[in-house]
Amino acid sequence: MSRRVIQELRRLLGTEAVRDAPAQVLSYSYDGTFQQRVPLVATMPRSTEDVAAVLRLASEEGVPVVARGAATGLAGGSVPPAGAIVLNLSRMRRLVEIDPADGVVVVEPGVVTADLHAAVEAHGLFYPPDPASLRQCTIGGTSPATPGGRAASSTG
Ligand SMILES: Cc1cc2nc3c(=O)[nH]c(=O)nc-3n(C[C@H](O)[C@H](O)[C@H](O)COP(=O)(O)OP(=O)(O)OC[C@H]3O[C@@H](n4cnc5c(N)ncnc54)[C@H](O)[C@@H]3O)c2cc1C
Repeated sequence: MSRRVIQELRRLLGTEAVRDAPAQVLSYSYDGTFQQRVPLVATMPRSTEDVAAVLRLASEEGVPVVARGAATGLAGGSVPPAGAIVLNLSRMRRLVEIDPADGVVVVEPGVVTADLHAAVEAHGLFYPPDPASLRQCTIGGTSPATPGGRAASSTG
């Protein structure tokens, strides 16, 4: 079953976006904590369609999935269940829209928080979250209640 899932992921996303070599999956087995569990495979989606395809397959096959931003989390949230599919969202880092009038930005989940700061500041806006991991952590990882990457900014 595992082999079939990996082959199907390669068909859906392309070979380059699917990593299952032992050294590769090891690097997706931990975050900022001391916890460690090795996933079945790591995927690097580039679009919402890629994410949907991974989730559809995982649902059909009953394989757990964990979303991963920069893996700087200190609560083990992106440490995968053993045998899971990792959704590495760091390639989805497009700033889709900045609406200065309404103070709203729409971003992909892999946008790095510091990049969002810089982008909205160019419009005279201020994005308040300011973790020490600013230059690494992603919007998806800092706003896990809003998968898909919608984040609001506010004027300072
Ligand atoms: C040096 C250092 C300094 C830090 N400083 C602070 C600080 O000052 N303040 C603070 O609060 N935290 C801090 N942290 C903790 C960490 O940086 C934050 O928790 C950050 O929000 C994690 O972002 P990430 O992109 O690394 O997410 P990850 O660690 O990859 O993921 C965090 C959680 O979000 C989920 N997730 C990721 N992407 C998505 C998505 N697109 N959709 C749904 N769920 C998703 C993951 O599954 C996981 O549960 C620090 C960590 C380090 C290592």
